Amino acid sequence: MTSAANLEEISSLHHTWHTPNYAPELLLVRGEGSYVWDSTGKKYLDFVSGIAVTSLGHCHPAVVEAVTQQAATLMHVSNLYYNDQAPYLARQLSEMSLGGKVMFCNSGAEANEGLIKLARKWGAEHGRHEVITMRNSFHGRTLATLTATGQEKIQKGFAPLPEGFRYANYNDLDSVKAQTTEKTAAVMLETVQAEGGVVPVDPEFMQGLSDWCHEQGLLLLVDEIQTGIGRTGMCFGYKHYDVVPDAISLAKGLGGGFPIGAVVTGPALQDVFTAGSHGTTFGGQPLACAVARTVLNVFQEEKLCLHARKMGERLAKGLAPVVDATPEVTALRGQGLLQGLVIDQPAKELEKLLAERGLLTVCTAGNVIRMLPPLNVTEAQIDDAVELIADACASWNPA
Ligand SMILES: *Cc1c(COP(=O)(O)O)cnc(C)c1O
Repeated sequence: MTSAANLEEISSLHHTWHTPNYAPELLLVRGEGSYVWDSTGKKYLDFVSGIAVTSLGHCHPAVVEAVTQQAATLMHVSNLYYNDQAPYLARQLSEMSLGGKVMFCNSGAEANEGLIKLARKWGAEHGRHEVITMRNSFHGRTLATLTATGQEKIQKGFAPLPEGFRYANYNDLDSVKAQTTEKTAAVMLETVQAEGGVVPVDPEFMQGLSDWCHEQGLLLLVDEIQTGIGRTGMCFGYKHYDVVPDAISLAKGLGGGFPIGAVVTGPALQDVFTAGSHGTTFGGQPLACAVARTVLNVFQEEKLCLHARKMGERLAKGLAPVVDATPEVTALRGQGLLQGLVIDQPAKELEKLLAERGLLTVCTAGNVIRMLPPLNVTEAQIDDAVELIADACASWNPA
């Protein structure tokens, strides 16, 4: 299949007609499994997966089939009517996780906005409204979620920010305790700070935090937008620990490339939203839900959780000698197939060297090469990536 797309023309149109908040360099025109092709025909091993979105790889036949079938049957009807997809997806998600009820939406930020509104609505009955979030976190780009995001660079220029957020240091229980007041309703965190540099939560902190929330009567909210649906080698990031959140947010990998988000509650919060108290036009539409059901079915049938764990271990084992041999690489950290090579200086140039060699990764937090292969990546593809990384590191001559 050839594409008429031409990088020069597209780039020129992009810069003329898109608000300049992104600066892409490659024009990708086709994908299949773990590979994508650019407009010149160059093939890449895709360890970005649309930022943890295309978790079954590109154009997975079951996903393509679900999209085309449902699009030809019924795409959207609004929440004024039942549809015959959403309730099955809700049941499936609840049974995989917290056992309560589900609210669908369309993106990660919208799911977190839902979590925050849930905490506010619950808190209103108890005279509490504050949400404690972590420094270096990432929760999205709406006003409430960028305020929840504990990073100045994300908040800069958008003042005044909504009230009611307090920041604690990640993996520092005393810091959470110090931020807790009689107004605190909830604590919200990621089990791996992904955008923040692939920083896993400390198990003792996670346990202590859960205990603190129980003791103080606070909600524990986990942002599973990047860690959810098998990314870390467990169905959900929180399942690595002996804790049960009150609610979680999902998006990214849930739709396998089709936009969908969800708030999944535990039983205690499942009826906090009442008729008319929160809503969305697109959320829960049959097309998105049919695709997500297919993603979950493939995920379970192909035991991709376990596979992701094994492939993550293989990647770590393969990269250990590279970490040792490269002075600028200080560590590999992460969980499952959410892994970051930590560099002792800006890593953008290394990301470029990798892309030149045919491996797509995404530099995050300035100095971390984040890798997010599809969950069904093969052993051979992991080994190929290790080789490309070793080669790029060996020929990297940072100033
Ligand atoms: C990507 C991400 C979000 C925001 O999701 P969008 O779909 O971009 O709004 C929120 N939280 C985490 C942990 C994420 O990785």
